[in-house]
Amino acid sequence: MSRGPRPAVFLDRDGTLIEEVGYLDRLERLAFFPWSVDAVRLLNHAGFLVVVVTNQAGVARGMYEESFVGEAHQYMDETLKAGGARVEAYYYCPHHPDGSVAAYRRQCECRKPAPGMLRQAERELGVDLGRSFVVGDRWLDIQMAQQVGAAGILVRTGYGRTEEQRPIDGVRAAAVAENLIEAVGWILRTGDQGPRTRG
Ligand SMILES: [Mg+2]
Ligand SMILES: [Zn+2]
Repeated sequence: MSRGPRPAVFLDRDGTLIEEVGYLDRLERLAFFPWSVDAVRLLNHAGFLVVVVTNQAGVARGMYEESFVGEAHQYMDETLKAGGARVEAYYYCPHHPDGSVAAYRRQCECRKPAPGMLRQAERELGVDLGRSFVVGDRWLDIQMAQQVGAAGILVRTGYGRTEEQRPIDGVRAAAVAENLIEAVGWILRTGDQGPRTRG
C-alpha cells in the first residue's frame, strides 16, 4: 500500500446522494437515489476516500437542530454500511450569514463555495485535494472544487438540470453527468491522473 495523501471523492448530499427535498428536517423524508449505495461502494473499491460535504443552513435558519444533521448522517451511514459502502467522514456547515439562530449566524469558512470543508478533510484525513473530485448538483460545489484544484462534476439530479441552464462566468465543470452513478463511471475512467495544475 502506498502511504501519504490519498485522493478523495467529495459528495454533496442533498440532490446528489439523496433526493433534494428542500430542507430535510425529518428522517421519513430522507431517500437515497437507487444507485447511491452502489456508487459509493464502487469508489471504495477503486481506492478513493469518500467524504460527504453539505451546507446545512437549515440549522442557522432554525428549521431543525444541529443534532438532527448528525442523526440523518448516522441513518445514512447505517444504510450505506448495510450495502457494503463506506463514507469516511461527513462534514457539514450549519452556518448562514443571515441565520435567525444567533449561535450559527456568521460568515464562515465552511459554507460552500468556500473550501473550508475540503481543507478540513485535507488536514484530518490526509486527502490529496489536487487529485480529488467533487460531485454536486450546484455550481457552488464546482466553485469549491475549482478553488482547491480538484475536478468538479455537475450531476443533473436535484437542482443540477436547472443549474446547467444557468452557467456562471468562470465556473466550469470537468464533466456533467446524468446522476451520481454516471459521475462515478466518469471518475473511474479518468482515474488518478496525478496532480492537476491549480486555478
Ligand atoms: Mg446539493
Ligand atoms: Zn460554516
